[in-house]
Amino acid sequence: MRIDLHTHSTASDGTDSPAELVRTAAAAGVDVIAITDHDTTAGWKEAAAALPSGLNLVRGMEMSCEGRGEDGRPVAVHLLAYLFDPESREFAVERERLRGERITRLRAMAVRMADAGLPIDPDAILAEAGPAVGRPHLARALVRAGVVATVGEAFTDLLSTRSPYYVAKADTPLERAVEMVADAGGVSVIAHARARSRGRLLALDHIRELAAHGLGGLEVDHPDHVDQDKALLRSLAAELDLIVTGSSDYHGTNKTIELGQHTTAEAAYEAIVARATGVRVLTGSDARATRGAGR
Ligand code: AMP
Ligand code: FE
Ligand code: FE
Ligand code: ZN
Repeated sequence: MRIDLHTHSTASDGTDSPAELVRTAAAAGVDVIAITDHDTTAGWKEAAAALPSGLNLVRGMEMSCEGRGEDGRPVAVHLLAYLFDPESREFAVERERLRGERITRLRAMAVRMADAGLPIDPDAILAEAGPAVGRPHLARALVRAGVVATVGEAFTDLLSTRSPYYVAKADTPLERAVEMVADAGGVSVIAHARARSRGRLLALDHIRELAAHGLGGLEVDHPDHVDQDKALLRSLAAELDLIVTGSSDYHGTNKTIELGQHTTAEAAYEAIVARATGVRVLTGSDARATRGAGR
Protein backbone atom coordinates (compact mmCIF):
# COMPACT_ATOMS: atom_id res chain seq x y z
CA MET A 1 0.00 0.00 0.00
CA ARG A 2 1.20 3.51 -0.87
CA ILE A 3 0.16 5.81 1.95
CA ASP A 4 0.76 9.57 1.75
CA LEU A 5 -0.45 11.37 4.87
CA HIS A 6 0.38 15.03 4.16
CA THR A 7 -0.87 16.98 1.11
CA HIS A 8 -2.28 20.41 0.33
CA SER A 9 -5.03 21.70 -1.97
CA THR A 10 -6.26 25.13 -3.05
CA ALA A 11 -8.13 25.28 0.28
CA SER A 12 -4.71 26.40 1.56
CA ASP A 13 -1.41 26.76 -0.31
CA GLY A 14 -1.53 23.88 -2.79
CA THR A 15 -2.32 24.37 -6.49
CA ASP A 16 -4.59 21.33 -7.08
CA SER A 17 -8.25 21.72 -6.17
CA PRO A 18 -9.36 19.08 -3.63
CA ALA A 19 -10.98 17.10 -6.49
CA GLU A 20 -7.79 17.31 -8.57
CA LEU A 21 -5.76 16.28 -5.53
CA VAL A 22 -7.57 12.96 -5.07
CA ARG A 23 -7.49 12.29 -8.83
CA THR A 24 -3.75 13.00 -8.91
CA ALA A 25 -3.32 10.60 -5.97
CA ALA A 26 -5.15 7.79 -7.75
CA ALA A 27 -3.16 8.40 -10.94
CA ALA A 28 0.09 8.27 -8.91
CA GLY A 29 -0.87 4.82 -7.58
CA VAL A 30 -1.51 6.04 -4.05
CA ASP A 31 -3.90 3.90 -1.93
CA VAL A 32 -4.36 6.23 1.03
CA ILE A 33 -4.17 10.01 0.92
CA ALA A 34 -4.63 12.50 3.72
CA ILE A 35 -5.77 16.00 2.81
CA THR A 36 -4.04 18.27 5.32
CA ASP A 37 -4.56 21.89 4.39
CA HIS A 38 -3.22 24.57 6.70
CA ASP A 39 -5.74 25.55 9.41
CA THR A 40 -8.86 24.50 7.52
CA THR A 41 -11.11 21.54 6.74
CA ALA A 42 -12.64 23.42 3.80
CA GLY A 43 -11.33 20.92 1.23
CA TRP A 44 -12.77 17.80 2.87
CA LYS A 45 -16.18 17.84 1.21
CA GLU A 46 -14.97 18.31 -2.37
CA ALA A 47 -12.21 15.70 -1.93
CA ALA A 48 -14.72 13.18 -0.56
CA ALA A 49 -17.22 13.85 -3.34
CA ALA A 50 -14.56 13.33 -6.04
CA LEU A 51 -12.87 10.31 -4.40
CA PRO A 52 -11.91 7.79 -7.11
CA SER A 53 -13.04 4.23 -6.52
CA GLY A 54 -10.70 2.32 -4.20
CA LEU A 55 -8.81 5.38 -2.94
CA ASN A 56 -8.95 5.92 0.83
CA LEU A 57 -9.25 9.46 2.16
CA VAL A 58 -7.99 10.48 5.59
CA ARG A 59 -9.51 13.80 6.48
CA GLY A 60 -6.98 15.96 8.30
CA MET A 61 -5.30 19.32 8.50
CA GLU A 62 -1.99 20.95 9.39
CA MET A 63 -2.28 23.36 12.26
CA SER A 64 -0.05 26.42 12.76
CA CYS A 65 1.47 26.19 16.23
CA GLU A 66 4.12 27.72 18.39
CA GLY A 67 6.60 25.50 20.21
CA ARG A 68 9.82 25.98 22.17
CA GLY A 69 12.91 26.20 20.02
CA GLU A 70 16.26 24.54 20.75
CA ASP A 71 17.47 27.99 21.85
CA GLY A 72 14.52 28.38 24.25
CA ARG A 73 12.76 30.99 22.12
CA PRO A 74 9.35 30.41 20.43
CA VAL A 75 9.43 28.65 17.07
CA ALA A 76 6.76 27.96 14.42
CA VAL A 77 5.72 24.30 14.40
CA HIS A 78 3.22 22.49 12.15
CA LEU A 79 0.98 19.90 13.79
CA LEU A 80 -0.80 17.38 11.56
CA ALA A 81 -4.22 16.37 12.88
CA TYR A 82 -6.06 13.33 11.54
CA LEU A 83 -9.64 12.10 11.67
CA PHE A 84 -10.91 14.61 14.23
CA ASP A 85 -14.51 15.76 14.53
CA PRO A 86 -14.71 19.02 12.56
CA GLU A 87 -17.64 20.20 14.66
CA SER A 88 -15.73 20.10 17.94
CA ARG A 89 -16.48 23.66 18.99
CA GLU A 90 -13.32 24.94 20.62
CA PHE A 91 -11.15 23.49 17.86
CA ALA A 92 -13.31 24.97 15.09
CA VAL A 93 -13.15 28.41 16.72
CA GLU A 94 -9.35 28.17 16.98
CA ARG A 95 -9.03 27.22 13.29
CA GLU A 96 -11.05 30.28 12.38
CA ARG A 97 -8.82 32.48 14.53
CA LEU A 98 -5.74 31.06 12.78
CA ARG A 99 -7.18 31.83 9.34
CA GLY A 100 -7.81 35.41 10.51
CA GLU A 101 -4.16 35.61 11.63
CA ARG A 102 -3.12 34.53 8.13
CA ILE A 103 -5.04 37.44 6.57
CA THR A 104 -3.69 39.99 9.08
CA ARG A 105 -0.13 38.72 8.55
CA LEU A 106 -0.47 38.76 4.74
CA ARG A 107 -1.55 42.40 4.86
CA ALA A 108 1.28 43.32 7.25
CA MET A 109 3.89 41.69 4.97
CA ALA A 110 2.36 43.35 1.91
CA VAL A 111 2.62 46.77 3.57
CA ARG A 112 6.32 46.20 4.30
CA MET A 113 6.87 45.12 0.71
CA ALA A 114 4.94 48.06 -0.73
CA ASP A 115 7.01 50.43 1.45
CA ALA A 116 10.12 48.95 -0.15
CA GLY A 117 8.68 49.42 -3.64
CA LEU A 118 7.66 45.81 -4.29
CA PRO A 119 4.40 45.74 -6.29
CA ILE A 120 2.19 43.59 -4.08
CA ASP A 121 -1.61 44.01 -3.83
CA PRO A 122 -2.97 42.08 -0.84
CA ASP A 123 -6.61 42.47 -1.95
CA ALA A 124 -5.88 40.81 -5.29
CA ILE A 125 -4.07 37.96 -3.50
CA LEU A 126 -6.91 37.48 -1.01
CA ALA A 127 -9.53 37.55 -3.77
CA GLU A 128 -7.78 34.63 -5.46
CA ALA A 129 -6.79 32.60 -2.40
CA GLY A 130 -8.96 30.03 -0.64
CA PRO A 131 -9.81 30.21 3.08
CA ALA A 132 -6.21 29.76 4.31
CA VAL A 133 -3.88 32.25 2.64
CA GLY A 134 -0.12 31.86 3.14
CA ARG A 135 3.34 32.93 2.11
CA PRO A 136 3.18 30.77 -1.06
CA HIS A 137 0.39 33.06 -2.30
CA LEU A 138 2.72 36.02 -1.78
CA ALA A 139 5.45 34.06 -3.55
CA ARG A 140 3.25 33.52 -6.60
CA ALA A 141 2.36 37.21 -6.67
CA LEU A 142 6.08 38.05 -6.61
CA VAL A 143 6.65 35.66 -9.53
CA ARG A 144 3.75 37.21 -11.47
CA ALA A 145 5.15 40.68 -10.82
CA GLY A 146 8.51 39.55 -12.21
CA VAL A 147 10.33 40.22 -8.93
CA VAL A 148 11.57 36.61 -8.72
CA ALA A 149 11.56 33.72 -11.19
CA THR A 150 10.15 30.95 -8.97
CA VAL A 151 8.24 30.34 -5.73
CA GLY A 152 11.37 28.71 -4.31
CA GLU A 153 13.45 31.80 -5.10
CA ALA A 154 10.89 34.01 -3.33
CA PHE A 155 11.40 31.94 -0.18
CA THR A 156 15.21 32.08 -0.18
CA ASP A 157 15.32 35.69 0.92
CA LEU A 158 12.14 37.77 0.52
CA LEU A 159 9.82 35.44 2.43
CA SER A 160 12.15 33.59 4.80
CA THR A 161 11.79 34.03 8.56
CA ARG A 162 15.02 36.09 8.45
CA SER A 163 13.64 38.52 5.85
CA PRO A 164 12.85 42.14 6.81
CA TYR A 165 9.41 41.60 5.23
CA TYR A 166 8.60 38.58 7.39
CA VAL A 167 5.86 39.00 9.97
CA ALA A 168 5.01 36.21 12.43
CA LYS A 169 1.43 35.10 13.15
CA ALA A 170 0.00 34.40 16.61
CA ASP A 171 -0.11 30.61 16.35
CA THR A 172 -1.62 28.10 18.80
CA PRO A 173 0.58 26.98 21.71
CA LEU A 174 1.61 23.43 20.85
CA GLU A 175 0.32 21.90 24.13
CA ARG A 176 -3.12 23.39 23.57
CA ALA A 177 -3.16 22.21 19.97
CA VAL A 178 -2.32 18.62 20.96
CA GLU A 179 -5.10 18.76 23.58
CA MET A 180 -7.66 20.19 21.15
CA VAL A 181 -6.94 17.49 18.57
CA ALA A 182 -7.28 14.78 21.22
CA ASP A 183 -10.49 16.33 22.59
CA ALA A 184 -11.94 16.25 19.06
CA GLY A 185 -11.13 12.52 18.75
CA GLY A 186 -8.21 13.08 16.40
CA VAL A 187 -4.60 11.94 16.28
CA SER A 188 -1.77 14.52 16.24
CA VAL A 189 1.58 14.13 14.50
CA ILE A 190 4.34 16.77 14.49
CA ALA A 191 5.14 17.66 10.86
CA HIS A 192 8.73 18.02 9.57
CA ALA A 193 10.20 18.68 13.04
CA ARG A 194 13.78 18.85 11.66
CA ALA A 195 13.18 20.92 8.50
CA ARG A 196 16.35 23.00 8.94
CA SER A 197 15.86 25.16 5.85
CA ARG A 198 12.77 26.72 7.45
CA GLY A 199 14.69 28.24 10.36
CA ARG A 200 15.30 27.28 13.98
CA LEU A 201 14.28 23.83 15.22
CA LEU A 202 11.83 22.62 17.87
CA ALA A 203 13.51 21.47 21.12
CA LEU A 204 13.59 17.68 21.42
CA ASP A 205 12.65 18.05 25.09
CA HIS A 206 9.47 19.81 24.03
CA ILE A 207 8.59 16.74 21.96
CA ARG A 208 9.23 14.58 25.05
CA GLU A 209 6.84 16.75 27.09
CA LEU A 210 4.14 16.56 24.40
CA ALA A 211 4.44 12.78 24.20
CA ALA A 212 3.36 12.66 27.83
CA HIS A 213 0.35 14.83 26.95
CA GLY A 214 -1.30 12.93 24.12
CA LEU A 215 0.90 13.54 21.07
CA GLY A 216 0.37 10.68 18.62
CA GLY A 217 3.39 10.67 16.35
CA LEU A 218 6.27 12.21 14.45
CA GLU A 219 6.58 12.74 10.71
CA VAL A 220 10.00 11.30 9.86
CA ASP A 221 10.22 10.66 6.12
CA HIS A 222 9.77 14.17 4.78
CA PRO A 223 11.48 15.85 1.78
CA ASP A 224 13.00 18.53 4.07
CA HIS A 225 14.71 16.00 6.40
CA VAL A 226 18.29 14.79 5.94
CA ASP A 227 19.09 11.14 6.78
CA GLN A 228 20.77 11.96 10.08
CA ASP A 229 17.69 13.82 11.33
CA LYS A 230 15.41 11.00 10.17
CA ALA A 231 17.47 8.58 12.27
CA LEU A 232 17.31 10.92 15.25
CA LEU A 233 13.51 11.30 14.99
CA ARG A 234 13.06 7.58 14.51
CA SER A 235 14.94 6.80 17.71
CA LEU A 236 13.06 9.53 19.59
CA ALA A 237 9.76 8.02 18.40
CA ALA A 238 10.88 4.58 19.60
CA GLU A 239 11.88 6.03 22.98
CA LEU A 240 8.52 7.78 23.40
CA ASP A 241 6.32 5.13 21.76
CA LEU A 242 5.16 7.52 19.03
CA ILE A 243 3.81 6.59 15.60
CA VAL A 244 6.27 7.24 12.73
CA THR A 245 4.87 8.65 9.49
CA GLY A 246 6.21 9.65 6.09
CA SER A 247 4.69 11.90 3.45
CA SER A 248 5.34 14.08 0.44
CA ASP A 249 3.87 17.35 1.78
CA TYR A 250 2.64 17.78 -1.80
CA HIS A 251 1.72 21.38 -2.75
CA GLY A 252 1.08 20.95 -6.50
CA THR A 253 3.29 23.25 -8.55
CA ASN A 254 4.19 25.37 -5.50
CA LYS A 255 6.83 22.73 -4.71
CA THR A 256 8.76 20.26 -6.85
CA ILE A 257 7.86 17.15 -4.85
CA GLU A 258 5.41 14.58 -6.30
CA LEU A 259 2.50 12.92 -4.55
CA GLY A 260 3.50 9.61 -2.96
CA GLN A 261 7.22 10.42 -3.11
CA HIS A 262 7.52 9.70 0.62
CA THR A 263 5.13 7.27 2.32
CA THR A 264 3.91 5.86 5.63
CA ALA A 265 4.13 2.18 6.66
CA GLU A 266 0.83 0.31 6.79
CA ALA A 267 1.16 -0.50 10.50
CA ALA A 268 1.61 3.20 11.34
CA TYR A 269 -1.44 4.13 9.28
CA GLU A 270 -3.46 1.43 11.01
CA ALA A 271 -2.33 2.70 14.41
CA ILE A 272 -3.64 6.18 13.55
CA VAL A 273 -6.97 4.82 12.35
CA ALA A 274 -7.32 2.61 15.44
CA ARG A 275 -6.72 5.53 17.76
CA ALA A 276 -9.01 8.09 16.08
CA THR A 277 -12.65 8.50 17.10
CA GLY A 278 -13.65 11.73 15.33
CA VAL A 279 -14.49 10.79 11.75
CA ARG A 280 -13.76 7.63 9.79
CA VAL A 281 -11.63 7.00 6.73
CA LEU A 282 -13.66 7.34 3.51
CA THR A 283 -13.20 4.93 0.62
CA GLY A 284 -14.02 5.83 -3.00
CA SER A 285 -17.66 4.99 -3.88
CA ASP A 286 -18.87 4.97 -0.25
CA ALA A 287 -17.85 8.62 -0.08
CA ARG A 288 -20.54 9.53 -2.59
CA ALA A 289 -23.19 7.80 -0.48
CA THR A 290 -22.29 9.87 2.58
CA ARG A 291 -21.62 13.01 0.52
CA GLY A 292 -18.45 13.53 2.53
CA ALA A 293 -20.31 14.21 5.72
CA GLY A 294 -18.52 11.48 7.69
CA ARG A 295 -19.75 11.29 11.24
P1 AMP B 1 2.94 30.22 6.07
O1 AMP B 1 2.17 29.06 6.63
O2 AMP B 1 2.08 31.20 5.40
O3 AMP B 1 3.90 30.83 7.07
O4 AMP B 1 3.85 29.63 4.91
C1 AMP B 1 4.54 28.43 5.12
C2 AMP B 1 4.39 27.60 3.87
O5 AMP B 1 5.31 28.07 2.92
C3 AMP B 1 4.73 26.14 4.05
O6 AMP B 1 3.60 25.41 4.38
C4 AMP B 1 5.19 25.74 2.68
O7 AMP B 1 4.07 25.41 1.91
C5 AMP B 1 5.75 27.00 2.09
N1 AMP B 1 7.21 27.03 2.03
C6 AMP B 1 8.08 27.19 3.07
N2 AMP B 1 9.35 27.19 2.62
C7 AMP B 1 9.29 27.03 1.28
C8 AMP B 1 10.25 26.96 0.23
N3 AMP B 1 11.56 27.06 0.48
N4 AMP B 1 9.81 26.78 -1.04
C9 AMP B 1 8.50 26.70 -1.32
N5 AMP B 1 7.55 26.76 -0.37
C10 AMP B 1 7.93 26.92 0.90
FE1 FE C 1 2.24 24.84 2.95
FE1 FE D 1 4.15 22.21 7.12
ZN1 ZN E 1 2.35 20.84 4.77
